[in-house]
Parts: sequence; C-alpha cells; structure tokens
Amino acid sequence: MTDQIYVDGAWRRPASGETLPVVCPSDGKEFARIARGGAKDIDAAVAAARRAYEGPWGKLTALERGRLLMKVGVKIAEHAEELAQLEARDTGKPLKQARADMVAAARYFEFYGAAADKVHGEVIPFLAGYTVLVKHEARGVTGNIIPWNYPAQMFGRTLAPSLAVGNAAVLKPAEEACLTSLRIAQLCHEVGFPPGTINVVTGLGEEAGAALAGHPGVDFVAFTGSPQVGTLIQKACADHHRACVLELGGKSPQIVFEDAKFESVLPVVVNAIVQNGGQTCSAGSRVLIQRSIYERFTAQLAERFARLRVGSHEMDLDCGPLISAVQRDRVARFVRDARAARIPVLAEAQLAPGVPAGGYYAAPVLFGNVPLDHELACEEVFGPVLSAIPFEDEADAIRIANGTPYGLAAGIWTTDGTRQMRVAHAMRCGQVFVNGYGAGGGIELPFGGIKKSGHGREKGLEAMREFSVVKTIVINHG
Ligand code: NAP
Ligand code: MG
Repeated sequence: MTDQIYVDGAWRRPASGETLPVVCPSDGKEFARIARGGAKDIDAAVAAARRAYEGPWGKLTALERGRLLMKVGVKIAEHAEELAQLEARDTGKPLKQARADMVAAARYFEFYGAAADKVHGEVIPFLAGYTVLVKHEARGVTGNIIPWNYPAQMFGRTLAPSLAVGNAAVLKPAEEACLTSLRIAQLCHEVGFPPGTINVVTGLGEEAGAALAGHPGVDFVAFTGSPQVGTLIQKACADHHRACVLELGGKSPQIVFEDAKFESVLPVVVNAIVQNGGQTCSAGSRVLIQRSIYERFTAQLAERFARLRVGSHEMDLDCGPLISAVQRDRVARFVRDARAARIPVLAEAQLAPGVPAGGYYAAPVLFGNVPLDHELACEEVFGPVLSAIPFEDEADAIRIANGTPYGLAAGIWTTDGTRQMRVAHAMRCGQVFVNGYGAGGGIELPFGGIKKSGHGREKGLEAMREFSVVKTIVINHG
C-alpha cells in the first residue's frame, strides 16, 4: 500500500499512475515504492479536506476531536516498535533514535488531543450595552509540508495541533521518507476520522509540494525544510494573501563559559550535533568556548568525538548514515572546503567495521578555531560537523552567538545565575536552554525561529494559536 495516496478516507493510485523508489540510506538499496502524486491529486485532497471541514469533521465538538486525536496517540504507542523499524529503514537513523521518535510522535497526539477542548476565548469590556467576545476558530484547510529528518515526529507536530483546533489537513511528506506518514495515516483511518479530515499525498516537492503550497483552496501552510524552499512557499502564500508558518533550520550555538561543569556539558554538546547525524533543525552546530578554557575543553571534546561510532540503522550506534547521496555529498563538500581553508580538524570519528557498502555515511568531524566569516561558522551543514569557536568575554560570546543569519535555538553553560539571565535575554533566537540542550525535544515548548530560521511557532499551546484565527463578535444589547 505504500505506492498509493490517502485521499478522502481511501487509498488510491495517483493520477500520474507512476511510482518513485524508496531507498534505505544504510545500504543505498531500493526496498519499496511510493506514489508520484501531483497537482490533480492535490486538487482532490484539498476538495476532500474542504468537504470534511464544512461537513462531518467541522461539526464535531472540541471534546470529540480531542478524543480521536488521543486515540491516534494510543495507536502509535501500540505500534511503536513496528513504526520505529520502518522509520529506521527509511531514514537510516539508529533504531534507538527511531524508538525515541515514536514516543514523541504519540505524545504530540496525546498533548493536542487533551488540549483540544481547552481553547478559551475572552470577553472584552467595551461600551455600555455591549458584550464583546473574542474566539479562536479553525482556519479551514491546512497544507502541511514536512521534511525527512524526523518524519513521524513531524507528522504529529504539524497535524495534531491543526486538527485539534478543527482544521482539516493535506500533508505532503518529503520524498525521501514517506513510509511512517503513510502507516500513521492508516492508523488514523482505523481510529475513525471522517473521510477527508486527513489526506496524505506523496510525490516530488516541485510537483505535489508546489501544488499544495500554491493551491487556492488552502487557508494556511505549515512548512519545515530549507530556507530556499521556505522562500518559495511564502511567495506562493503571498499570491493568495495567506499566512504560513516556516521553520527553516539554524546554526545554533552552545556557549560554554569558564565556570561551566565540563562533565555535564560535554555529553550534551556532543549529542546535540550527532543526534540524527546532525540532521536536526536545532542541532547545536557551533560550540563557543571561553578562551581561558578553550584548549582544555576542546581536548576533552575531541577525545569524545574520536570515539563516536557510525553504522547502519540496525547496528544502532551513535550515528547512522545521512538521508541521501545528495546530503552526504553536500556535507562532504563543507568538510573538504574547510580543510582546504586550513581550518584545523581536532577530531574525526571512524565508520564502524562491517558498515554496509553503498550507504550514505559521513563521519563526525570537529573543527577548531573556525573563523567567524567562514561558512562553517554561519551556514547550516545539516550533518555531524561541529565548529569550535573561542570567545573572550560575555559581550563577545553574545555578539558571536547572534552573528549568523539564523536564530533558532541556543544553549548557555554557566553556573553564574545572573549571567544565565543576562545572556538568555540577549539571545536573538526562538528557544534558549540554560545548562542543558534539547535538540528536537519538548512537545510542550513553543518552538520556531527568527531571521533565516523562519517565523511563526510550532509545538506547545502556541501551535494551536498559529493554526487558528481570532474572531471578534460585538453584540449591542443596550
Ligand atoms: P527541502 O527541499 O526544503 O524539503 C522540505 C520539504 O519541502 C519536502 O517535503 C520537499 O519535498 C518539499 N519541497 C521541495 N521543493 C518544494 C517546492 N518547490 N514547493 C513545495 N514544497 C517543496 O529540503 P531538502 O532539500 O530535503 O534539504 C536541504 C537542506 O534543507 C538541508 O541540507 C537542510 O539544511 C535543510 N533542511 C532543514 C530541515 C529542518 O528541519 N529545518 C529539514 C530538512 C532539510 P521533496 O523532499 O519531495 O522534494
Ligand atoms: Mg528512504
């Protein structure tokens, strides 16, 4: 069934009649096919979503919507191991990561299911004889375009809040990793959503994705992916005077002050860049280290980096392969250019013995003394490449941390409480962690960026506001 699309509560072949290969990044071999959906399929899906929104789905109470969502959470939890195996094979990520992803995917449906009937409005004091109500309503039909790095999590992150507030949705998963979206759509079907509430159309970004982003029948678009495509999405939305939320990645810093406790900082700094092979929007891809501890800290960091092990999803080591040959080559190009610029390599991990041939592997690399104007200090690599950068004092740290085109997340490591607050307030980004770092974590926590990292917020209750519109009702009863 992976070669069909899910539209109007049924599985069907795409209008093109064509399929695309599904490849396992661990060995580069094809193991399934997906449907090549396109503009006609998007038309059908948007029409079905509109019917659901104006019909049976739109008529459910918030409590009823919430109950359905919570049932999806239970289904995902029940099928967690099957889904994790599928996700690991489709994306190459280590099984333990895929298992953690399924816990989070289920949690999105639990969280928003439980929140669905807690969206309260306001009463505004106005003129004598008037009552003014402010209510939050669904936008209508949402177009949800997600990337390949955390497909099942992204399914929950983008659909659960949209559905919780009463929208119907059309999802376009990334061509490289669709399988868990299709499987969770089946689980949603079993739960019994009215037909058309959730539609999943697989296909190419420039075909199915572009058709969805530019569709006149879509009321709101939620996109996660590259800044380049984010720009296209926003332009397509502008043509229809339509809002969108864009989450476009980052170059997030971890700032380590001289009083930080090394033993608690080191494992988190390593994990924040190697988790999911560095293919995480909020990856901690820069580590800024106070000059007085720079040599000592980087020596210990290098030791840990060199010990990292890279293998297939089944080997379940620290790092899996990257998603595709294109991404592997892109990361390799960054590493090659940095070496050519004589930026010192402080450590490089090795591929584990027995790694399957044909996979898209990239060994984690730690670069030191990265110049601030080099692309490694300001552009997103989206691979396991960490840039160590020294700083002099607090003001210098803040300047460097904020000195990229991105602004998604930041980590601050210091035991000085007043410094924690000063630096946290000075960060120009959407999420700040102090003495910890939650790359990709925290369903409850509003998440999103500024500048080239995008705009709007997902996760937390904030996402439900994003997926709704405010209506003001003014009643003259004087
Ligand atoms: P991408 O092209 O931006 O893909 C993201 C999503 O947008 C996918 O579903 C993609 O579909 C779709 N898409 C592509 N072109 C489209 C178009 N013209 N109109 C509408 N939708 C379109 O990202 P990528 O090429 O896979 O990755 C490239 C870089 O993006 C990475 O190296 C990384 O820097 C960044 N990235 C960031 C995140 C994040 O979490 N913020 C996630 C992934 C990638 P198809 O995949 O089917 O083409
Ligand atoms: Mg795949």
